[in-house]
Amino acid sequence: MSEPDAPGGACPLPLRHDHIELAHGGGGRLTRDLVERLFLPAFDAVAPRDLHDSACFRAGDSELAFTTDSYVVSPLFFPGGDIGTLAVYGTVNDLAMAGAEPFRLSAGFILEEGLAVAMLERVVHSMAAAARAADVKIVAGDTKVVERGRCDGLYVNTAGIGLCRARLAPGAIEVGDAILLSGDLGRHGVAVLAQREGLEFETTIESDCANLAPLVRELLRAGVSLHCARDLTRGGFATALGELSLATGLDFELDEATIPVHAAVQAACELLGLDPLYVANEGRFVAFVPERDVMAALDVLRRHSPAEAASVVGRVVRSRGARGQVSLRSRIGGIRLVDLLSGEQLPRIC
Ligand code: MG
Repeated sequence: MSEPDAPGGACPLPLRHDHIELAHGGGGRLTRDLVERLFLPAFDAVAPRDLHDSACFRAGDSELAFTTDSYVVSPLFFPGGDIGTLAVYGTVNDLAMAGAEPFRLSAGFILEEGLAVAMLERVVHSMAAAARAADVKIVAGDTKVVERGRCDGLYVNTAGIGLCRARLAPGAIEVGDAILLSGDLGRHGVAVLAQREGLEFETTIESDCANLAPLVRELLRAGVSLHCARDLTRGGFATALGELSLATGLDFELDEATIPVHAAVQAACELLGLDPLYVANEGRFVAFVPERDVMAALDVLRRHSPAEAASVVGRVVRSRGARGQVSLRSRIGGIRLVDLLSGEQLPRIC
């Protein structure tokens, strides 16, 4: 399949579906379809290859980063987190991935008539605690209420502004860069799904939901030439790398044996027919660093939670085809191509 044209091109391609499906919110192919064929051309925004977790721009003397995200996770509370923590850390992390120091957030609430006020209070206090922990202030907001049955309890939107400390972007990824992964994969998606479906595993799997800004800050402080970073949310590790490979036109070669997946998550994924490479995380990211900085970067990451299990999982190489692609050497030595998430694996996990 060829990639769509950048905005400003002759004519945007038509959308592939007549109606919105759950997969349009899954972070994979159909989300990309909406973004590239509708939103970017309509808003005359950046070219698809320049899309990142935050928009960066100059305002007066400051370099700012700006991002927004909506949270519709079901259930609202799950092992290791809740919608409030997710709404703060998710937006903080998107600022951090662009090299920005998170600064101010807004919080918009869509509430369902009949929602217990005690539930809203729990979520708000959780957001407040997460904001304090991340050293950001929530300074603007909005509240709307819809009729009973028109939303599932509550949804939250957060937007965030950060001050750029470095320009981390897909365009800075270079041939020869090492691909570092900050920790094991798949905990968040499996934790939410297990809670929602009442599934019991031998071990309770907790979401990895975490603030990643301190990790990026420490890498930059240590002088690591961080080229790009991306958190591994919807669509998981595989989709994030697939997007970056398409954006850069470079190939990424991964080694499955170096990609950590907790035994309990692996077992749950096998039971549920999920591939942990595509399952959402909320406290994991990949970092692209030049070979000379790999040891320094690993040293920094492994000294800071939640990146104690950081490892090198692959390399960036020149593309062999017309566009960038991601290949994975499996544990038994075979090579398979890793594509963007197609369809929807787990709806409403963030
Ligand atoms: Mg992100």
